[in-house]
Amino acid sequence: MQQQYTIIGGGIAGLTAAIALRQKGIDPVIFEAAPELKPVGAGIGLAANAIQALAVLGIEKEIIAKGRFLEGFSFRTEKDALLAHTDTTAISRSSGQDNFVIHRADLHEALLSHLDRSRIHTGKPLAAVKPHGRSILLQFRDGSEHVTDYLIAADGINSVVRQSVLPGVTPQYAGYTCWRCVVPDGPAAAEEVEEILGPAGRFGIVPLTNGKVYWFACINAPSRDPEMKNMTAAGLGRIFSGYPERVRVLLQASEGLPLIWGDIADLPTTHEYVQGNIVLIGDAAHATTPNMGQGACQAIEDAVILAAEIARHKDPGMAFRAFSKRRLSRTRMVVRRSRMMGNMAQWRHPVLMALRNTLFRITPAAVFKRQLKTLYNVDLS
Ligand SMILES: Cc1cc2nc3c(=O)[nH]c(=O)nc-3n(C[C@H](O)[C@H](O)[C@H](O)COP(=O)(O)OP(=O)(O)OC[C@H]3O[C@@H](n4cnc5c(N)ncnc54)[C@H](O)[C@@H]3O)c2cc1C
Repeated sequence: MQQQYTIIGGGIAGLTAAIALRQKGIDPVIFEAAPELKPVGAGIGLAANAIQALAVLGIEKEIIAKGRFLEGFSFRTEKDALLAHTDTTAISRSSGQDNFVIHRADLHEALLSHLDRSRIHTGKPLAAVKPHGRSILLQFRDGSEHVTDYLIAADGINSVVRQSVLPGVTPQYAGYTCWRCVVPDGPAAAEEVEEILGPAGRFGIVPLTNGKVYWFACINAPSRDPEMKNMTAAGLGRIFSGYPERVRVLLQASEGLPLIWGDIADLPTTHEYVQGNIVLIGDAAHATTPNMGQGACQAIEDAVILAAEIARHKDPGMAFRAFSKRRLSRTRMVVRRSRMMGNMAQWRHPVLMALRNTLFRITPAAVFKRQLKTLYNVDLS
């Protein structure tokens, strides 16, 4: 009898893993907490490493068609002075693909189009995971149960599965909170991402397709602050009032639009993403702060590499262990580097800000490029 695989979580990690497994002749069942799979979210950057992983699955072209390429990124001060600029085209093209951005909803839709919806059960929040002989018993909040041979946990940073596999690994607040929004008819016609760093916090501008502009704003704040939760675009306009004019214009254009808000957190790094016949992938395993724009990219890499290891090994338990071994150092590097970058970007003390700005200015572009090359060169076999 064929072994049964179950995926918990229908986010980017879960859906991509399901596509990758199907291509290896395995048809997993997915349980998703949300009552329905609605197109949600703001923009998301997919770096060249993620596009390469999507290319392994043969689905990159249709995803690329829904997003747009970016030529680079720059960091500026609140006075609009350039701190650093990196042209990413040369680096990413040499690794086989370009960097690009897409609306999250379009990415989800593209992934879903490769899956059999009857295998995705929505409105199924997992409550507990228990051993069941040599199998695993999944108990859902609605009282229903499901038994599976192998479990892939793709249930995000607050993973219920991880709580039973790695109970000591819990999310840690990064010290800053973030709003995101997509403006349908954005004023900026830039060809690249820009991040503006200043005493009020960070403001990022990312051009999407068809005139849409995705922006994000991060400020230092206590966690779960009700004032932050109730923040409006006008309120952010006041906070970022000393920033360049395009920030004010974007925030004004966002009044009345839904803002996506959340405290930024990551997971402490661990030494294992596997326990027996359970494996953790994506944010459930190695949630990272968004400063490198790599969380979803690593989740997509996970999916492709997990499927490759499952195809390589007769024993899925061995495949899970091989996957974990392969993924640990790279994902830990991303989590640590991203945390450090975020801490620096959120500095507010004038002396520290001056130091950071000087570091940005004097760091040769070749150093940024070298770091990106390491990120973009990944073995997906
Ligand atoms: C502000 C911000 C900007 C970002 N920008 C980028 C970017 O530009 N590029 C990039 O690569 N990454 C970015 N990321 C990171 C990226 O969003 C995540 O890494 C990615 O979404 C992780 O995907 P996932 O599927 O592992 O987890 P999630 O996206 O969290 O998906 C988990 C899924 O599991 C479901 N679930 C949760 N609990 C249960 C349960 N108990 N039972 C059943 N289902 C459950 C959830 O409903 C959800 O559908 C950003 C993150 C933030 C916060």
